[in-house]
Amino acid sequence: MLRRFRGRRSVPRPVPAVWDSLRSLYRSKLLPAERFYDFGSFHSPPLHDSDFHPKPLVLVLGQYSSGKTSFIQYLLEQQIPGSRVGPEPSTERFVAVVHGESEGIIPGNALLADPEKPFRNLERFGNGFLNRFVCATLNNPVLESISLIDTPGILAGAKQRVCRGYDFPAVLRWFAERSDLVILLFDAHHLEISSEFSAALAALRGHEEKLRVVLNKADAVAPQRLLRVYGALMWALGRALGSPEVLRVFLGSFWARPLRDAEHRRLFQREERDLFREIRALPRNAATRRVGDLVKRARLVKVHALILSRLRRELPALLGSRGRRKRLIQRLPELLAQIQSEHQIPAEEIPDCARLQEQLLARDLSNLPGPKRRLLEGLDELLNRDLPALTPLLHPTTPPVRGGALDPSPGPFGADSEEEEEDEDDEDDGEEWVVMKDKAKYDEIFYGLAPNNGKLSGLRAKGWMVSSKLPSSVLGRIWKLSDVDRDGMLDHEEFALAGHLIGAKLEGRGLPEDLPPRLVPPSKRRQKGSVE
Ligand code: MG
Ligand code: CA
Repeated sequence: MLRRFRGRRSVPRPVPAVWDSLRSLYRSKLLPAERFYDFGSFHSPPLHDSDFHPKPLVLVLGQYSSGKTSFIQYLLEQQIPGSRVGPEPSTERFVAVVHGESEGIIPGNALLADPEKPFRNLERFGNGFLNRFVCATLNNPVLESISLIDTPGILAGAKQRVCRGYDFPAVLRWFAERSDLVILLFDAHHLEISSEFSAALAALRGHEEKLRVVLNKADAVAPQRLLRVYGALMWALGRALGSPEVLRVFLGSFWARPLRDAEHRRLFQREERDLFREIRALPRNAATRRVGDLVKRARLVKVHALILSRLRRELPALLGSRGRRKRLIQRLPELLAQIQSEHQIPAEEIPDCARLQEQLLARDLSNLPGPKRRLLEGLDELLNRDLPALTPLLHPTTPPVRGGALDPSPGPFGADSEEEEEDEDDEDDGEEWVVMKDKAKYDEIFYGLAPNNGKLSGLRAKGWMVSSKLPSSVLGRIWKLSDVDRDGMLDHEEFALAGHLIGAKLEGRGLPEDLPPRLVPPSKRRQKGSVE
């Protein structure tokens, strides 16, 4: 019997009550303060109802040609419609990869009108951005649990001067704020942290805990050199992020291609397992994370309100004199330090002084908002009472992400085995077995591997399959497709099928989600018939 991809009768998952509570708390307590103190133009635009949704968002960022699109396709085990993997930075776009009943592409402008999708307030970044933003819909099991954002490659060297036509770091910040995980890819083969990259990293400040770094294409680098590249990356990241936290860096080769140097196969396999485990667990903690995000946001709004109120208090004596206003702004570092110590605010919640000075210089200070008790008390209630009260609602009941490369590898490639869903297959149509034409070749190898009672154990077959240098997750998928009767061993037909699939993969073709009838070995077709 075959495992088959269910036709997903798309039943929307019930939205836990905590999301409604978060949305209404935001609207009643935080949004009024954000509006009054113009938080939007200083820090971050107001949140929209559609920002409170349970489906986690994964932002995939990286250098130009670090394998972002390939990473996503590897995860989904499916091509993204309309994707262009390849060298042409000017055509690179933001692509939201989301679940849909059918494959398709929705242009950025059309997304703004869709209340179902959390992209409505991207409008603010203008047409320069919207023309470079599309949504790709795919009927993929992974996307039932998470959505992914593919981003334009971050440029290095002279190419950085290419004008993007929109505020790239601001758009990144918008997505980072709404993401549950930010995957930052580097090409181990061409590691370079450009100034555009530093600006992108600065945009992620405050979201370091969401950041996972992947040193990709690590199989293309000799082991000794890899260690140096790793060290250089850690150093550069520490400098660019200006934060002492040690970031988790995953080494690997996240695409369905043979490993160039298979020496680190086991290391890459473990790294991938760790990273994918985190991705699988995203839905479980999505609500907890969103509560944390809202706490962080409320604290920033509060600090922002304190700063503007303080500036307003200092201002009256200076009104009318441009020179004095300028002096006030120059005194900002000192004022910020005073506010910080008076209200015992942790340093990381104090906004960047230079940026704030710039923002203040650009505006009319005569109508700065002052302290408004009701709003500030509302913020305190939100932080000290309302948000903590949500804790009992944060039961981790959401199932983990399934499908694509995220399914644990079965058979000898898996660390942990999982029960497989079994399902009826279509009628077989008596088609010719396409593996037959190469069967003799694989038979020779099969019998050369000394099968026991006509079957090769997982361990034996693994030795041979690994020689293809394909990554373990891909071999795991091939194993799953080939061990048709699921007895943990390969007979001569199943082995030929595995050989055929490896050959197809090495030629760059994709693996089927499920074994189509023309690939099912003839004897297994009969078996299957007798079960039904
Ligand atoms: Mg790409
Ligand atoms: Ca078998």
